[in-house]
Amino acid sequence: MFEKILIANRGEIALRIQRACRELGIKTVVVHSEADREAKYVKLADESVCIGPAPSSLSYLNMPAIISAAEVTDAEAIHPGYGFLSENADFAERVEQSGFVFIGPRPANIRLMGDKVSAKQAMIRAGVPCVPGSEGALPDDPKEIIKIARKIGYPVIIKASGGGGGRGMRVVHTEAALANAVVMTKTEAGAAFGNPEVYMEKYLENPRHVEIQILADQFKNAIWLGERDCSMQRRHQKVIEEAPAPGIPRKLVEKIGDRCAEACRKMDYRGAGTFEFLYENGEFYFIEMNTRVQVEHPITEMISGVDIVQEQIRIAAGEKLRYRQRDIQLTGHSIECRINAEDPFKFTPSPGKILSWHAPGGPGIRVDSHAYAGYVVPPYYDSMVGKVISYGATREQAIRRMQIALSEMVVEGIQTNIPLHRELMVDARFIEGGTNIHYLENKLAERPDLTKPVKK
Ligand code: ADP
Repeated sequence: MFEKILIANRGEIALRIQRACRELGIKTVVVHSEADREAKYVKLADESVCIGPAPSSLSYLNMPAIISAAEVTDAEAIHPGYGFLSENADFAERVEQSGFVFIGPRPANIRLMGDKVSAKQAMIRAGVPCVPGSEGALPDDPKEIIKIARKIGYPVIIKASGGGGGRGMRVVHTEAALANAVVMTKTEAGAAFGNPEVYMEKYLENPRHVEIQILADQFKNAIWLGERDCSMQRRHQKVIEEAPAPGIPRKLVEKIGDRCAEACRKMDYRGAGTFEFLYENGEFYFIEMNTRVQVEHPITEMISGVDIVQEQIRIAAGEKLRYRQRDIQLTGHSIECRINAEDPFKFTPSPGKILSWHAPGGPGIRVDSHAYAGYVVPPYYDSMVGKVISYGATREQAIRRMQIALSEMVVEGIQTNIPLHRELMVDARFIEGGTNIHYLENKLAERPDLTKPVKK
């Protein structure tokens, strides 16, 4: 096992990884920007290294600075967390070429999954069902593009091969709008992702977002740890996640879970990973794979009892997977609410000093957060300041515990989306379960306070 790990991330996940390391008896080095210098989680680490000024391009994305920090502190491995460099194959390669272990998949796998066209092709080869679509990137000839769309059937969605973060997508309902949509998506993709390649998929109108968590070691052992329903989204950003996904027959989940584990064995995948699917009318359709730990990993930990971050570290250290599929017993229900520093209904960011912070607790409640009274939420990064996770023997109990937790929680000094979560936890359709990816936006669009003009 490693003696010292460098954590190349910030915020709650930097603290989460520290805790996993501490439990495994591993020393930690946290790198940080000038904006995060005073954060308590930075001080909690055994060592910390400032790697640059506040903007992430100069700090958390600064590969040479991170690798130098590992060199001067004698760290053996680098955990990238999520976001930032976690899915950057060049970074993973540079880490390994510099003699450190990258806690994540092989660079070749990151690269394969980072391009959505090659990822889909790999999944088709591995027998994982995909959204029907073009076989690869779209050709230039408009006549050929029309032919492909006719074959798929409208509506279709044009997506950037290199896209991410819910950007680089355009829905097309008619043939008349097709050519223009392709050109616009290509131009945007070229500018935003440095890759103008686009592909086409059938646009599913009312799907749910359901994903499968997997773990695989270097010896082609792979297991899946159940599913997560992340359909409660705004602008393709997840707001609430839960596990298991309500109302989906277990047999269907088991079938798709087994396919994902098999795909990992075929790809020689190692580490943690997530297969994301759209689920509609009893069918799963693969959309993409994330080759890192996800924000919502705790809900899987709650129902499976497996510490995903610790397993990532063990796998990277060359250990054999400690679980076989039959060892995985999923019990109970877990829900996660992402707590963001933002206006709860207008969604404008609300950075600044937290004056008071009272986190909830009690049976079945876990709070993963780096925030505290006096902490200043910097304006430079993601607005998430923590996650409240509830667990119950049943979905009803998990919801009830989340309602209580949210009623106890106090954050003053900045605005947060806690009022939105409180509303959603008593929303009749959410309580029923199984809402689709458009539910939250449709609900928000009906709020009278959002459609009224603002009085000056
Ligand atoms: P990103 O990498 O940007 O997150 P994804 O491919 O994972 O992109 O898609 C993000 C979201 O876009 C999905 O969760 C879903 O809401 C929507 N989406 C993507 N593909 C389709 C599709 N074929 N039909 C309907 N919605 C889609």
